[in-house]
Amino acid sequence: MKAPVLQVQNLTKHFPITGGLFSRVTDQVRAVDNVSFDLYQGETLGLVGESGCGKSTTGRVILRLLEATSGEVIFEEKNIFDLKREEMRMLRQKLQIIFQDPYASLNPRMTVGQTIGEAMEIHSIATGVSKKNRTKELLEVVGLNPDYYDRYAHEFSGGQRQRIGIARALAVNPSVIVCDEPVSALDVSIQSQVINLLEDLQKEYGLTYLFIAHDLSVVKHISDRIAVMYLGKIVEIGAGSDLYSNPLHPYTKALLSAVPIPDPDAMIDRIVLEGDVPSPINPPEGCRFHTRCPFAEEICSQEEPVFKEHREGHQAACHIL
Ligand code: SF4
Repeated sequence: MKAPVLQVQNLTKHFPITGGLFSRVTDQVRAVDNVSFDLYQGETLGLVGESGCGKSTTGRVILRLLEATSGEVIFEEKNIFDLKREEMRMLRQKLQIIFQDPYASLNPRMTVGQTIGEAMEIHSIATGVSKKNRTKELLEVVGLNPDYYDRYAHEFSGGQRQRIGIARALAVNPSVIVCDEPVSALDVSIQSQVINLLEDLQKEYGLTYLFIAHDLSVVKHISDRIAVMYLGKIVEIGAGSDLYSNPLHPYTKALLSAVPIPDPDAMIDRIVLEGDVPSPINPPEGCRFHTRCPFAEEICSQEEPVFKEHREGHQAACHIL
């Protein structure tokens, strides 16, 4: 395994809830709790879980689009949470994001040329003619006609807009890209095209991806490793192939059993999870999954399971493993 390009250590993000006459903090939404993982150079780590599990918040806190409550993110030997505003602005060039909603993430008043060129100008990468030429080059790289340079976002389809979002991220020559559910808002037929494009770009530019998705089938083809998140915590991390063929954690098993298989004769032991995901304001004691886990034992509601390695490179947090 190569050296980690980015290390997330004990990352926690709580959102305060205020109320009453003096807007006092009355409670906390525990969106991300003590999350740790490494991202290795050139890999794709899929981060998967149900809506509200904290996966998108994790991605945004890593990039400091949201400030962390505690923890560290080490990039180029520095904890980026210690960086001053100007240092962080410089670093943003290397850490980029592709957003979920290609409609909301592009400014409707800017042309494609302005959208992609803006970041190059901010980071003094190119100006004038060279900026225009580089922007047209990037449009070609992401599979769009360079003649679209003067068009506005509303003139494009969802898939094309996501390609523009990808070109905008690439414009500043990043090394790590957080892909925050980049295909969730797209038609199924377009999803694989965008995933294939991301894979091609990764090979060409040596990019490292944190690929966030709520669906294990989406991350299967693109991820080298997969991290599964439940209610603000990572419950399992492993190589994609190992995690799919031999999942350890009961939650991962349940998610996998819900993935449709295109073989009508295939036998699936479906694990149906009862009830809703508990509130992150007041998560269950012990193992946070115990209120829905079909294998829960007495200890599960009393003690939090330790997240540890059970097979080489494959870690999980569960008392019965
Ligand atoms: Fe289920 Fe207990 Fe394992 Fe949690 S620790 S996943 S409740 S068996």
